Amino acid sequence: MKSYRKELMFHTKTRRAFINITPDVEAALVQSGIKEGMCLVNAMHITASVFINDNESGLHRDFERWLERLAPEKPHSQYDHNGYEDNADAHLKRSVMGREVVVAVTNGKLDFGTWERIFYGEFDGMRDKRVLVKIIGE
Ligand code: ZN
Repeated sequence: MKSYRKELMFHTKTRRAFINITPDVEAALVQSGIKEGMCLVNAMHITASVFINDNESGLHRDFERWLERLAPEKPHSQYDHNGYEDNADAHLKRSVMGREVVVAVTNGKLDFGTWERIFYGEFDGMRDKRVLVKIIGE
């Protein structure tokens, strides 16, 4: 069995962002040389997510508004976590959107449903963040 590991780096200009990382994961898969197996992609931070959904900008604005209703960023004082930090909302948003995805690898390709794409969800950006790609198989 082969095993491949890669870290993707992010540093968003805004506090929150959704980034289509499908091309980065596909490039990692090509580099790995693995044709049959499993691909794990996870955020390495507790204020960011990796999730699969539609690559449609309207939906991403809907996610942003929905998450802001569930866990508004402000006022920062509404959260017990915000003593030395101001990112309680980011922890909650990450929990809703999830930590990781697993995609089957078939014939050297990510075995997606028709509209599935992989996204990085940043909820406390403007600093260095990492995403882990781990691929196993043969
Ligand atoms: Zn925190």
